[in-house]
Amino acid sequence: MTKLRIETILCRAGTMDNYSYLLIDENTGTSAVVDPSEVAPIANKCKELDIIPDYILNTHHHFDHTDGNLDLKEIYGCKIVGAADDAYRIPGIDIHVKDGETFSLGASNAQIIRADGHTTGHILWYFSDTKALFTGDVLFNLCIGGLFEGTVEQMFTSLNKIKQLPDDVFFYPGHEYTIHGVGFAKYLQPDSPELQKYLSFAQERLSKGLPVSPTKLSEEKAVNPYLKAQSVQELEKLFNI
Ligand SMILES: [Zn+2]
Repeated sequence: MTKLRIETILCRAGTMDNYSYLLIDENTGTSAVVDPSEVAPIANKCKELDIIPDYILNTHHHFDHTDGNLDLKEIYGCKIVGAADDAYRIPGIDIHVKDGETFSLGASNAQIIRADGHTTGHILWYFSDTKALFTGDVLFNLCIGGLFEGTVEQMFTSLNKIKQLPDDVFFYPGHEYTIHGVGFAKYLQPDSPELQKYLSFAQERLSKGLPVSPTKLSEEKAVNPYLKAQSVQELEKLFNI
């Protein structure tokens, strides 16, 4: 039985509110940092837990997901893993991965899922045994990432890939952006009991200074307007409201 410990690390607090994650495969002690946004909060967490990360796992090239790559590589000697198609702009990349491949973090296996839209070459990291999905800047609580490089069609395809994963998978986004999605979700679903429940939970978490994530995909599918879009046209409309 594989067991993956996941520690959420807030980076760029109060400005971009990024989430990096420290993953520890408890069977082997192999560890990785997902999307190191900055060095200090991650180094502090590694020190606190006495961890020397073996890998950095990037979802995409944006600076607020890769800025810690080179410094952490120098400090810990870790290997940097990212999408082959994004490799030319991921600092310090060592290992290239592609859609459909599996990457082993000790005894924990991650499936690589390509998810264009926010950028081209963006990937999701899906640990099916742990039921943990790292969505970078594709899916956030109640909202999604902006279309910096890709098209609405590509984003629709990417969201569909997420929707096809099991309902009991927990997702871990690249930012704490829940608050940005509240108004729009309420406007579109003023009478939704599922949304009321979700918002109560989110408010309680945020009031304690805790991340809203992880939430289950089933919960997100019930309230996230972008996941609820059934066609490219429906998704496109949401960008124009
Ligand atoms: Zn981004």
